[in-house]
Order: sequence, then structure tokens, then C-alpha cells
Amino acid sequence: MGRLFVISGSSGVGKGTVINEFLRRHSDFKLSISCTTRGKREGEEHGVNYFFLSQEEFKKCVENNEFLEWAEFSGNCYGTKKEFVENCLSKGENLILEIDTKGALNVKKIMPEATLIFIAPPSVEELEARLRGRHTETEEAIQKRLASIKSEIENSKQYDYVVVNDTVENAVKKIEEITG
Ligand code: 5GP
Repeated sequence: MGRLFVISGSSGVGKGTVINEFLRRHSDFKLSISCTTRGKREGEEHGVNYFFLSQEEFKKCVENNEFLEWAEFSGNCYGTKKEFVENCLSKGENLILEIDTKGALNVKKIMPEATLIFIAPPSVEELEARLRGRHTETEEAIQKRLASIKSEIENSKQYDYVVVNDTVENAVKKIEEITG
């Protein structure tokens, strides 16, 4: 059986970069592909980044109890298919779920053997400064994001590990220690 790891972190903490670097170094780990109702971003592909579903298709999967967990995030639905996770683990593949903290805590309830890792910013103040520094969002949008970052940090208190992303190298090393 493969092992299951769940990694979460607020947007803007560089979680994607850390996970990609870890995966580059560890070919025995695989990133799970979630389903989502959000629109495809440039460069994204169906079946690679996500399985892009319509609201109707997503609803059907919920009704048929096909999701291990699902959550609404920023007005869109995201879910992890049970079948996907079971297939990977039974093939002996180590799997990483990159999902939000609500979803992660639900996974832990169903699969207590899963290891939960939260990637935290060195400081919330610094993250706030970085978000403001981008000058791409309205004050309202920034406030909304900060509220969601704070609630995710609150949820992370129930995680097995918190990894501070001060540098990518340090964060990857810490994940290697946890998964090794
Ligand atoms: P994005 O739209 O930027 O790709 O992802 C937005 C958020 O949804 C991220 O926090 C990501 O971790 C989370 N997410 C992606 N897939 C899933 C999933 O299957 N379940 C849950 N609960 N969250 C997910």
C-alpha cells in the first residue's frame, strides 16, 4: 500500500513551488488530480491539473457518494475522488493531496493514517505586505483573502506538521524528513 499525505497552505505562500520541487526529487510520489467546477486557467489541461467538471457533473458525483471529500472554496467546488485515491494507494503509489484545510480535516476523519502537512508563511504580516505589493487586488479582495488565511492557520492547529516556507530548500527538506 502507498502512503497518503495531505498538504495545504494559503495562496501566496509558495506551496505549489515547494510541492513541485519535492515531486521533482521523489519520483515515488504522485500528486492527486482533483475535480473542480472552476474554469480552466491558461495552460491547464483536463486530466492533468484537474478534472474540470460542470456544476451538474460535480453534483452527480456528490449524490453518488464518489468523493472522499469535497469543499467549496472561493465560490467553486473542489473534490477528491475516492476511486482515484484507492487506485493509487493499492498500486503502492505514495500520494499527495493538495487540498484546502477543511477538506484535509475531513480526509483525516475518514483516513486517520493520512499525514497532514501545513505550509505556513514565515509571517502573516509579510504575506499581507506581499499581497498588497502586487497591486492587483482591491482592498476588499485583500481583506477576504486575509480572513481565509487566518481561518486556515487556525485549522492548521489540528495538522500533524506545520512547515514554515522561509526558503523553498528548507521547506522541501522538512517535507523530506516527514515523508522519509
Ligand atoms: P486553485 O483554484 O487555485 O487551483 O485552488 C484553490 C484551492 O482549492 C487551493 O487551496 C487548493 O488546495 C484547493 N483544492 C484543490 N483541489 C481540492 C480538492 O480536491 N478538495 C479540496 N477540499 N480542496 C481542493
